[in-house]
Amino acid sequence: MTEFDPTARRAEAVRALVDGEPARAADRYTVAGRGALAGREAEAHGRDVLGADAGRGAYGLRYLLLATFAHRAAGDDRRARLRATEGRAVAVDYAAVVDSTVERACCLEAAADFVAAGGLDASTEDAYDRALAAYRGADEPEPLDRATDPLFEAVRLGPQQAARNTGHGFDWDELHGSDPDDVDYLVGRPRLKRSRLPRVAETVAETGVLAPPRGTTEHNNADYVCPECGRSEVNWIAGIEACLDCDVRMERK
Ligand SMILES: [Zn+2]
Repeated sequence: MTEFDPTARRAEAVRALVDGEPARAADRYTVAGRGALAGREAEAHGRDVLGADAGRGAYGLRYLLLATFAHRAAGDDRRARLRATEGRAVAVDYAAVVDSTVERACCLEAAADFVAAGGLDASTEDAYDRALAAYRGADEPEPLDRATDPLFEAVRLGPQQAARNTGHGFDWDELHGSDPDDVDYLVGRPRLKRSRLPRVAETVAETGVLAPPRGTTEHNNADYVCPECGRSEVNWIAGIEACLDCDVRMERK
């Protein structure tokens, strides 16, 4: 009997993206997301996801968000909206579960991500503005430490992956304010996403491509070459070698 691998379904989703099968990736991300929300897989494996480890449970939101984007890439806007509606409902519920105002703000940020990704009827700007107002009302003494909490990481990583190689990507510094001791450090998150995520969703839908996450990377690798661009910029992810720029499988030299 093979040992249970809590990251197997997430890895299948990533390989499906690299192999240009966004519909399959959407389904794999959906089950990985629901598994994480049940405390059964990925970062949430074995965690008390509606209790002390709610931040780990939020990784389920990360995968449901990626499922939403993957449905957009597959041209299935109806299932994208269904997945976004599901994810937004869970995110809003998490806002009622977490302990502090700043965590609640992060859950509202996650809810807004689903509105943007799924193109839900609700206004994306209003959804992000609710998160923004909640951050402003939070008395958070350590914004930088907060930003590296599992909850905040879960809500950062999905949108950051979706934005990769779309022309609307963003890094940590763009997402956060300049002063890590000021709450504006966190307010920067919904502010940047408000302007960027709708364009990311449009680009994913237009191109039919959702990028895999950035894993371990190496420039000018000696063994692998990209069949598309002819370069050797490797992104090691989910047990395979993908081109860092083209997001296709690399070939041996
Ligand atoms: Zn390439």
